[in-house]
Amino acid sequence: MKIFNWSDLNSEEQAFVLSRPALDQSASVSEKVAQIISQVRQNGDEAVKALTETFDGVTLDHLAVSPAEFEDAESSISARSREAILTAIENVSKFHEVQKPSSISIETMPGVTCRREARPIERVGLYVPGGTAPLPSTVVMLGVPATIAGCPLKVLCTPPRKDGSIDPHILVAAKLTGIDQVYKAGGAQAIAAMAFGTGSIPSVSKIFGPGNTWVTEAKLQVAKDPAGAMYDMPAGPSEVMVIADENASPDFIASDLLSQAEHGVDSQSILVTNSKHIAEQVVEAVMTQLSQLSRKDIAAIALEKSRIITTDNLSEALAISNRYGPEHLIIQVTDPESWTSKIHNAGSVFLGPWSPESVGDYASGTNHVLPTYGYAKAVSGLSLDSFLKQVTFQNLSAEGLCSLGPTVEHLAELEGLDAHKNAVSIRLQQLKGKGLSS
Ligand code: NAD
Repeated sequence: MKIFNWSDLNSEEQAFVLSRPALDQSASVSEKVAQIISQVRQNGDEAVKALTETFDGVTLDHLAVSPAEFEDAESSISARSREAILTAIENVSKFHEVQKPSSISIETMPGVTCRREARPIERVGLYVPGGTAPLPSTVVMLGVPATIAGCPLKVLCTPPRKDGSIDPHILVAAKLTGIDQVYKAGGAQAIAAMAFGTGSIPSVSKIFGPGNTWVTEAKLQVAKDPAGAMYDMPAGPSEVMVIADENASPDFIASDLLSQAEHGVDSQSILVTNSKHIAEQVVEAVMTQLSQLSRKDIAAIALEKSRIITTDNLSEALAISNRYGPEHLIIQVTDPESWTSKIHNAGSVFLGPWSPESVGDYASGTNHVLPTYGYAKAVSGLSLDSFLKQVTFQNLSAEGLCSLGPTVEHLAELEGLDAHKNAVSIRLQQLKGKGLSS
């Protein structure tokens, strides 16, 4: 990992050091995804099966996971695995349960009552990536809030393995989080199927979950179609930023940088520290730990785009972090809580030496589906809110309309909207007839 001293860099170099790996937004991906979506819309299940054969090398008779497959999955996983999944579900449930919003109601002026109540999104689609690794943790992160929100229809799609089955841990996690409709479909074809529906896969209103370029592009394209489905958040490659002072452990920092780097070749890990000594020690620790990883080839490529930045002080380090807006931010400094009010842009923050990113990835309770690529400046990670809509209500008494009506009539007149004005005037006339309005 290369070390850069922030104050030695000009503004162009600073921008380069904080740049992210380029996303593949080529016309060829976009055209191919458009073709896949069109095939699925025309030929439904048959298209999904054919595309699964092409891209996943699997021939499927049925897309839906059968009750027998769910049962087999239950009996094939170890008691330890089941217990670990249950612990994750328990913690994620606790943290998302307390996010339930309460209804609000206020009389904005006498006789004018405004209310807001949450409603679950009725039909949700959950995408669990499966191309390179099974991700039961993502099932937990999507399934738990969908169930707590009370979404009546929950559909989960994930690519099949080479033998046509789904990883049993994914099926057990699905069942335990209250999802019983699981389909063997991945990539753009899965997104198209959930957005528009096929013979066996029901259509949904919103699609959640991470995925590769094909999945992301498909989510964007189906959201543009009024008959399609909304998506949770824009996505790019995963990333971590660590802020450390001279008291941090170089070994801990190296392990955090590498846990991000092993995700994928396009992952990015950045350390920002006010200690040159720590920077040098981390370089050594990364090399030592890297050699022992089973995914060292992936992590090594990711590290080529990863950096260490040294700063004059911690305030400068925080300013850099807010400018970058990391998906994951790890704060390994003395008294980390005293810095939190200065953190403005980050998906999820890990405070102190005993809070590695891995705990949030799996089981602390926070959600691991987070905004990447700087979107943390404007977007939050997945939460209960993502599965809810807020419906607003207003109820005016005759007295309320008499008070507010003239203001609305005036504003409607200002905008030249006669019918709007008339909808108030006609009522005020009637109230006048009853002697209720002046
Ligand atoms: P995936 O499920 O996203 O994609 C696999 C599917 O891609 C296959 O089923 C196939 O249909 C399709 N595909 C592959 N090659 C194709 C081609 N040439 N043309 C058309 N379609 C093709 O699984 P993945 O590939 O392992 O990617 C997972 C992604 O999810 C990674 O980028 C990872 O970083 C990301 N991820 C992010 C988070 C997060 O919270 N941010 C969590 C987990 C995973």
